[in-house]
Amino acid sequence: MITAEEMLTTAYTEAQLGLAEGGIPIGAALFDSAGNLLGRGHNRRVQAGDPSLHAETDAFRNAGRRRDYRDTIMVTTLSPCWYCSGLVRQFGIGAVVVGEARTFSGGHEWLAEHGVSITLLDDQECVDMMTKFIAERPELWNEDIGVAE
Ligand SMILES: [Zn+2]
Repeated sequence: MITAEEMLTTAYTEAQLGLAEGGIPIGAALFDSAGNLLGRGHNRRVQAGDPSLHAETDAFRNAGRRRDYRDTIMVTTLSPCWYCSGLVRQFGIGAVVVGEARTFSGGHEWLAEHGVSITLLDDQECVDMMTKFIAERPELWNEDIGVAE
């Protein structure tokens, strides 16, 4: 059985890919309950010029069609924003593994209130990655989270 930390490694690798492409370092992946990787992706706002291309939506779309999501696990390097939290609710994804929620706290507590299993790893590598990015590219970060100048 794959651990939450091992699943996070896939999301973290995706985040680093995004950073290397000049984008926002947030990565995600969707697994089934047996630990099989269904899809992986990263935030591509900058690369694709698409503000709706978040890490979670990218991983979700790359996983393709599926009848039922209750037994799937979405792993993401950062607490999911409202948009991605909405995706989790919309499709009934059963569990979310969150790398960290210190640099940004989205909807993970709201998801927990609605019965989604939440694992918050508070991973130091994820915290360091976002802290560095926010310090270096504040304008890009504020654009991504919808904060006005
Ligand atoms: Zn999002």
